[in-house]
Amino acid sequence: MSAVPARAKIVIIGGGVGGTSVAYHLAELGEKDVVLVDRNELTSGSTFHSAGLVGQLRADPTLTLMNMHSVDLYRKLQATDTPPSWRECGSIKLASTPERMQEIRRQIGWAKSFGLDLHEISPQEAQNLFPLIDLEGVVGACYMASDGQVDPSQLAMALAAGARKNGVQIFTHTRVLEIKTINGRVSSVVTDKGEIECEIVVNCGGMYAPQIGRMVDVRIPIVPMSHQYLITDNFLAPDAPFLPSLRDPDNLIYFRQEVSGLLMGGYERSSKAWSADYNNIDDIPADFNSMLLPDDWDRFYDIAEASQKRVPKMAEVGIKNFINGPEGFTPDNEFCLGETSVGGFYVAAGFCAHGIAGAGGIGKVVAEWIVAGEPTMDLWHMDIKRFGASYESPDFTLQRITENYEEYYDIHYPGEERKSARPKFTSPVYDWHKANGAVFGEKASWERVNYYSTNKGNEDLRPKGWLGKHWSSAVQVEHLATRTAAGLFDESSFAKARISGARAGEFLNFVCANNVVKGVSKTVYTQALNSKGGIESDYTVTQIGENEFMIVTGTAFATHDFGWLEKMRREFSYDNVEITNITRELTCFGIMGPNSRAILQSLTNTDLNHTAFPFMSSQEIDLASLKVRATRITYVGELGWEIYAPVANGLALWSALIDAGKDLGLIPCGYRAIESLRLEKGYRAWAGEINTETNPFEAGLGFAVSLKKEDFHGRAAAVAAKENQSRKLVAITFDDVTSVPFGSEPIRIDNKIVGRIKSGGQGYTINKAIAYAYLPTEHSEPGTRVDVELFGLWSSGVIAAEPLFDPENSRIRS
Ligand SMILES: Cc1cc2nc3c(=O)[nH]c(=O)nc-3n(C[C@H](O)[C@H](O)[C@H](O)COP(=O)(O)OP(=O)(O)OC[C@H]3O[C@@H](n4cnc5c(N)ncnc54)[C@H](O)[C@@H]3O)c2cc1C
Repeated sequence: MSAVPARAKIVIIGGGVGGTSVAYHLAELGEKDVVLVDRNELTSGSTFHSAGLVGQLRADPTLTLMNMHSVDLYRKLQATDTPPSWRECGSIKLASTPERMQEIRRQIGWAKSFGLDLHEISPQEAQNLFPLIDLEGVVGACYMASDGQVDPSQLAMALAAGARKNGVQIFTHTRVLEIKTINGRVSSVVTDKGEIECEIVVNCGGMYAPQIGRMVDVRIPIVPMSHQYLITDNFLAPDAPFLPSLRDPDNLIYFRQEVSGLLMGGYERSSKAWSADYNNIDDIPADFNSMLLPDDWDRFYDIAEASQKRVPKMAEVGIKNFINGPEGFTPDNEFCLGETSVGGFYVAAGFCAHGIAGAGGIGKVVAEWIVAGEPTMDLWHMDIKRFGASYESPDFTLQRITENYEEYYDIHYPGEERKSARPKFTSPVYDWHKANGAVFGEKASWERVNYYSTNKGNEDLRPKGWLGKHWSSAVQVEHLATRTAAGLFDESSFAKARISGARAGEFLNFVCANNVVKGVSKTVYTQALNSKGGIESDYTVTQIGENEFMIVTGTAFATHDFGWLEKMRREFSYDNVEITNITRELTCFGIMGPNSRAILQSLTNTDLNHTAFPFMSSQEIDLASLKVRATRITYVGELGWEIYAPVANGLALWSALIDAGKDLGLIPCGYRAIESLRLEKGYRAWAGEINTETNPFEAGLGFAVSLKKEDFHGRAAAVAAKENQSRKLVAITFDDVTSVPFGSEPIRIDNKIVGRIKSGGQGYTINKAIAYAYLPTEHSEPGTRVDVELFGLWSSGVIAAEPLFDPENSRIRS
């Protein structure tokens, strides 16, 4: 077909596995008015030169479920008249270090909660399945029978055929030149074959996605990186059993059988961004389709050497083909999915060399997202809105991508911090922190204090296993000081927005589940719900004027939460409401603990007693001769205030607070202490225990939903969720404070897997390890004994009544 239609509801740009899968799934969901365009042939981007390995198990449960869908789909497509050469050959992962074996055992543990057929095998069993391997240094292995391989081009063709069958029109050699918008929403796509008026555009441009994003001023943080593999001559006996694919991540290599030879690739320690021009690292030449990059043997040398050690035959056989192909990588090796800041402009790109394994699942979740207008499962890790402002810089993006590519196969331990492109955003007290022994972590490009190394605590509390690696006893000291005296926390990175305009209150009461308009100086904790009643955001709203409000949310959630507010404003026509991100204008310090009032009172004439300055209220006051906003609130379960001040006054204010607290036991504390304190008190964290897939009632946040309000977004679903609760978030405690789960571990009751851990940590006041999990309501009673698998061993815990600390709230209301 040559001329494009003048109108279509949905236009997909890109005919690789991403675009064809989105098209396939949209059609399957009944969307008939869909057009897919590609500037060249289908599969002529990264797809045609892919290695085609399909592994399901990933560090992220959502991604694992998506890959499981891919396998189901590829099996199904294999039975059609356009089969993608799906071969369910199984896969082996080798552990060449004891740490990798721990990772494998941990993965086997949580694979159980998905019903995945992953099990441990001995080195000898691995060799029986893949006889070419040398077992030198192999500690152990695991095997998954349902993994496999597929022909990537045939896969895209099979998906395209399925889409066409259900009405999708596909136009090749049709280049998108421009995307038009009206009032912040896409309105049409201009191609070299004509203009298509449309409601939705899906950017499935792979490594070309940033170029396409620029057409609507949307920054997509993807950089094409060179990725290489080789194919040997045929040497396997024709009657030999087909080999499973093999990964040896400690040696950075992977293999699969290709005809009767081997395909071998890996992740080099010296990565290379491919670009036409370094100043435009994500620009791709107009004619770059069906092309490869020149062989780069220098960078591949170490990989080739490692492959010969693991599979000695590699040193003997000839090489038939060497592939160096570019592939779009993101700064955290997760996909880049979802609706962008432009209404109706979606992206599904940046598949980081696992797009063939992911394509089925990606197509499904993105199609569902488009049809429902919001994600149908928790996709936060893949949501384009997880990227903060710093990713506007291509150079910053590249530094992060380089670090990630080179550590692709490394084991990532809890509490590990990024190394590249730091420091980026700092608080006005950064130098003070540094001079006083701060150990920093990074969140959304902000340097934040994790803890102060000068605080020395009890080393016996170091958790066993991985959690112990980046653990510090300082956290216990800071935790206990906050409970017994006072802790001072630099929370300047909190994301903050001002919402103003004559209809600001009306707008916020529509977006938020709680009643957030309670009068000037009142602060309210609330969630914003999606139409399924899932928690889209979780924050506090303070009314600071008749028509003016301040929202404070987590450091990493500015783009996501304020983007959701923008979307609501646009879609529900609250035209005169203004949403301004004021994160960089205000510093914020939390002073928490029983002595916080006395410390603050010594610096102000404003009466801070409980009646004059009640819990969940906010006032502008003079503090240490500086004008600040003080909000009485806590995320650690103690009497306390958050103090907001212009950034320019930050250091003076911090110093005054430190001085005033000296004789009252105040110490500076970091974010790790906040985590421990809030887990103990049962305060929820978005992207921790709560997300778009969980509703407030099952999460124990029903108290923050005002069903008295007749209308708010997601209300009908919230009412239904309240009446029909099939699962509940529970707290589980373990007497051994050093046996600490930290996420995804399977939970067993009466020998049956009933769920998996969401989050975990140590509670230093109650002196227990703590975890949170959603369990079926019938298994959620306090007192129920549960077993949780930690690295292959079952630990016994108990469901405990919440909150674990100060159930009367006497601390916060004192
Ligand atoms: C060497 C190598 C090995 C790999 N091995 C594996 C593996 O073993 N397993 C695995 O799961 N993944 C693997 N991958 C990754 C996988 O191949 C990719 O993730 C996947 O193919 C990306 O698909 P896509 O649809 O996002 O992008 P592409 O296939 O690049 O498709 C994008 C399309 O957009 C089109 N386009 C761009 N701009 C425009 C425009 N303006 N107008 C119209 N059309 C446009 C392009 O022509 C292109 O066809 C590998 C990748 C490489 C490079």
